[in-house]
Amino acid sequence: MRSFEYLRPTSLDEAVKLMAKHGRKARVLAGGQSLLNMMKLRIASPEYLVDLCELDELTTAEADSRQGLRIGAMVTYHQLQKSGLLNSAYGMVGDALEVIADEQVRHVGTLGGSCCQADPHGDTPNVVVALEAEMEAVSSKGRRLIRAGKFFAGLLETALASDEILVNIRLPQQPASTGSAYEKFAWRKGDYAIISAASLITLGNGGQCARASMVIGSARSSPLVLGRAPSVLVDKKVTPEVIAKAAEAAFEEVEPEADAIYGSSEYKKELVRTLAERSLLSAWKRTQRGIN
Ligand SMILES: Cc1cc2nc3c(=O)[nH]c(=O)nc-3n(C[C@H](O)[C@H](O)[C@H](O)COP(=O)(O)OP(=O)(O)OC[C@H]3O[C@@H](n4cnc5c(N)ncnc54)[C@H](O)[C@@H]3O)c2cc1C
Repeated sequence: MRSFEYLRPTSLDEAVKLMAKHGRKARVLAGGQSLLNMMKLRIASPEYLVDLCELDELTTAEADSRQGLRIGAMVTYHQLQKSGLLNSAYGMVGDALEVIADEQVRHVGTLGGSCCQADPHGDTPNVVVALEAEMEAVSSKGRRLIRAGKFFAGLLETALASDEILVNIRLPQQPASTGSAYEKFAWRKGDYAIISAASLITLGNGGQCARASMVIGSARSSPLVLGRAPSVLVDKKVTPEVIAKAAEAAFEEVEPEADAIYGSSEYKKELVRTLAERSLLSAWKRTQRGIN
């Protein structure tokens, strides 16, 4: 690891000033679970590390019945799991947190850090995109909201400027009778995903599907939002048979990239079908139960 200067601001204002001063030479430090490994491997060699650990305002999460969930960027996976905020509509977030790494990583890794890491095999980017989150960023130029669908810009790349700090992840309030679920396939529990699927279903008054969405993870360098698979469900009475058809549409729609570590495109395509079906079934069950 190359040497660097460790900076520990005690307010967001100070952190913003440090990022404005040092720009590309600086990196924000959250849980350090990815960044420190990259520094040890010399994939990243920042001259300044701006640790956000003293910024209490980034470590809280709250629910608002109109605005939905606001999750501070420094909220750890473990904190979010224990928060009691993840009801059936946000069920996919709870599912994703359960399958990330292990207890040690989940105690220090943060939601903001994992989104900013933008690892194509990471879990959280898929769920924030599927839930149409807004990512709130701050810099010396002010605050701005970036739609999650536009936030992930490719392999380890986000839409953040080099001096911007992600401060909140805002998950919009979901209509009643919404259920969501996340399914991941990895060789061992806690490994990075080979393929994953995040699905959401909202039922209308007559019990038919009013809205559906699906995101496939690890198939490309950023989360893949599907169009055809959800459209199979919309305006139909949801049944296991309709869900199987939607999963088939997902299989047809996704052309995963092959890679030397995780396998061929054909292999991953089969996983897409299986995980799409499982996540839809689970999201549908949650629309009926109303609990996570
Ligand atoms: C053994 C192991 C197994 C893992 N398995 C999985 C897994 O199965 N699934 C999965 O999704 N992840 C996995 N991870 C990664 C883990 O989820 C990390 O915690 C996460 O990727 C980064 O979160 P962090 O808080 O540690 O961020 P850091 O490592 O501190 O930062 C990551 C990057 O984001 C930037 N950053 C962090 N916070 C902000 C912010 N607020 N504003 C702007 N930039 C910011 C940093 O500068 C850095 O570039 C694993 C990690 C380990 C060590």
